Amino acid sequence: MEINGRTRTCGLIGHPVEHTLSPVIHNTLAGLLGHNMVYVPFPVEPGRVQDAVNGADALQLLGLNVTVPYKSEVIGFLQEIDRLAYNIGAVNTLVRTEGGYKGYNTDMEGLYRAMISEDIKIAGEQIILLGAGGAARAVAHLCALKGAEKVYMLNRTFDKAEQVAVEVNRASGKDVVYPMLLQEHDKIPAGKYLAIQGTSVGLSPYVEEAVISDRVFYEKVHTGFDLIYNPWETRFMRYVQECGGKAYNGLKMLLYQGIIAYELWNEVSVSEQNAHIVYERLRAHFVQ
Ligand code: NAP
Repeated sequence: MEINGRTRTCGLIGHPVEHTLSPVIHNTLAGLLGHNMVYVPFPVEPGRVQDAVNGADALQLLGLNVTVPYKSEVIGFLQEIDRLAYNIGAVNTLVRTEGGYKGYNTDMEGLYRAMISEDIKIAGEQIILLGAGGAARAVAHLCALKGAEKVYMLNRTFDKAEQVAVEVNRASGKDVVYPMLLQEHDKIPAGKYLAIQGTSVGLSPYVEEAVISDRVFYEKVHTGFDLIYNPWETRFMRYVQECGGKAYNGLKMLLYQGIIAYELWNEVSVSEQNAHIVYERLRAHFVQ
């Protein structure tokens, strides 16, 4: 693509940003759709988030993604925030409007689209959610919003799970999320569950770690969805498969959260055919 005087810029702010795959998503889409747009990562030092947002506005950047550790902090520097993102308390996408940026959370909708593409149901399901950090909190909101029957939220730190449960149950107007300690997993009633792995345990380079290693737990899992995509196949996913379940990694979630951001910035709808092309480019980073 030729960069010229009309090229619009989008990017990513976070710390660190060096290993991001988001440029693959956005620059591939811009090429496929013939948009005069580039996407670049911008490392932002702690304490400089407000400067970064104001600078982006001054430079008329079309949009930004926001990653760790600024997804909550950035909210204070926005002109407007989407209601869902407000409820979740985390923003990963900024769209430039008159007078400043509007914040959205596309992680949640990205996970939903990823699940739809794999034929994984949330409505009416009994779900086990591991973790209570930023990502797991968004997943808990998603599950409640999409009609999950019950979500057992297991976390190392009980207070955090309890806090998320109170918040999600209040927002959804019903008791969907049940907080538990990780080591209490044997208290989950017998049955078959969708298990969503939302902790950072197992992330490269600690590829042999899983947040639960008791096989009895995995006997209860019909489908395991790990939000981690590096490594391609996590220890959690292998446990699920060894106990007869289906397992998925988080690369499609990454793909679709990016696609939704791209759609917001460019006011277009990305076809499944183009989504597939981008997915294959992302996948090539992990599987030869
Ligand atoms: P976070 O806010 O830092 O939360 C980390 C979570 O992991 C917390 O629940 C924490 O428990 C738990 N944890 C960390 N170390 C642990 C250990 N040794 N034993 C037990 N639990 C442990 O991180 P996040 O932003 O939610 O991200 C979580 C994961 O999701 C990351 O691996 C990230 O790569 C992935 N993610 C993927 C996508 C995607 O697009 N696929 C998007 C977002 C995130 P405590 O509360 O007890 O500390």
